[in-house]
Amino acid sequence: MSYDYRILIGGELTKAASSETMEVTNPANGEVIARVPKCGTEDVDRAVAAAEAAREGWRATYVGERAELLFKVAEILRAHQNELIPIETAQYGGPISKTSRFDIPFAHKEFEYIAGLGRGLTGLTISGDPNARMMTVREPHGVVGLITPWNFPLVTAVSKLAPALITGNTVVLKPASCAPLTVLRLGEYIKEAGIPDGVVNIITGPGNTVGEAIVTHPGVAKINFTGDSHVGKRIYELAASRVMPVASELGGKNAMIVLDDADLDGAVQGAVHGAFFNSGQNCGSPSRFYVQEGIYDAFVERFIRSASKVTVGDPMDPATMMGPLAYMDCRVTAERFIENAKAAGAAVLLGGEPPRGELAKGAYVLPTLFEVHDNKMELMQEEIFAPVVGIMKIRSGEEGAALTNDCRYGLCASVWTQDYLKGMKLLDKLDVGTAWLNQHLAIVSETPWGGRKESGWTKENSVLVLDEYTWQKHVWIHMESDPKTFWKDMISL
Ligand code: NDP
Repeated sequence: MSYDYRILIGGELTKAASSETMEVTNPANGEVIARVPKCGTEDVDRAVAAAEAAREGWRATYVGERAELLFKVAEILRAHQNELIPIETAQYGGPISKTSRFDIPFAHKEFEYIAGLGRGLTGLTISGDPNARMMTVREPHGVVGLITPWNFPLVTAVSKLAPALITGNTVVLKPASCAPLTVLRLGEYIKEAGIPDGVVNIITGPGNTVGEAIVTHPGVAKINFTGDSHVGKRIYELAASRVMPVASELGGKNAMIVLDDADLDGAVQGAVHGAFFNSGQNCGSPSRFYVQEGIYDAFVERFIRSASKVTVGDPMDPATMMGPLAYMDCRVTAERFIENAKAAGAAVLLGGEPPRGELAKGAYVLPTLFEVHDNKMELMQEEIFAPVVGIMKIRSGEEGAALTNDCRYGLCASVWTQDYLKGMKLLDKLDVGTAWLNQHLAIVSETPWGGRKESGWTKENSVLVLDEYTWQKHVWIHMESDPKTFWKDMISL
């Protein structure tokens, strides 16, 4: 509580211009754990001005030099990981077993991966006119605005920041208000690493003021946003007046199709892990299960047995598998979805009741499984972002694929079968950004991540991420002094 969290503007670790602050609470018990600057539009102006001032210098830096600085950030992140792990857990409830194995180590590994990847960036050379050299030259966008969510607060910020920097952009980064602490710490490491002043600016404050001011600022050339689909749509509307590019990673309502010939144990493991990892607060979590009739009863029985073993509790306890949701309002929302599903006739197979005892004080929702007969139900169409999922019996894989596509989201889905050819044909039918066979939620730096439909339009991770932060200028070098060698006699002056 005593730590003095500062924003980073123009290389200075500073306060909001108004000196206002806002609270960050621990969702496991509601205690205030920190106060952070509550910025306003004047801070956005300061941050964008600093990023604009740093733009030409950073862009002119040799990519190897930028890579060296990213490696330095990675080194500092690695040195501070033991400090960051409990902060990450306390601010959004991700169990320490997860933040210590995934969230925090990911941050330095991602900086290292992107630092190397960026040095391989190339453009095209194009054959055509023998009197010309035609090519594309990669250029950074300029000042990019990065707006990030609270689930995986450091992971989502680093996944945008590292590629933005290696490709020569300068940045204004705004993390989610309920979980900004590790990103503010990252600001300190950026400074310590010697990244030039103004290249990275990190500000905190409400999305509907600070976030919108970043999106509408004329000095910002591109937005890269991860968050809710409704907020994404608002950002697209705001960006439309300037035809500003927006990259978006939005919500998901992801399906898992389990066929009669699936490995039952493997499929149940994948389902339970996917549904309840990080309390279901993953854009890629499976939350709709379409299970073929021959295996349905056995699957349900094993799912319930396995999910009942998920330990729910204090996220600081290394034995805890599932912590609270990120804040109290998320619990209220999840409970509303549960009540709506009951009212709509879905049968509770597991959970469905508020937690008792100590857990009742926190933002906890217990693993909940509903049996559903109508794919149009809210439970099967809307992102709940909680450990609340629906299961439905299907007659065939084709029916499962059709039900999967019958949804406005298109982030990811999986098919579970031991008949690989059948499985691969089904993957082809899915309108999603990532389609797994006998796997779900496997995401690594080397593979692209991004959705279709209302799940957004971009790619994060992999070599494709570099496309999001560069654009390709076409350059034509005519090798004859007379341009008519191309125009021939079409126009004679
Ligand atoms: P939100 O959309 O509520 O917030 C995301 C960020 O946007 C926050 O920094 C928020 O600020 C800011 N914001 C809110 N309103 C505006 C606005 N009007 N203009 C500009 N910025 C704004 O998402 P959550 O933080 O609740 O994160 C959960 C969502 O993120 C889920 O829908 C999930 O599916 C999605 N997500 C998608 C991923 C993907 O890869 N497709 C990955 C991870 C998450 P503030 O916190 O101050 O409100």
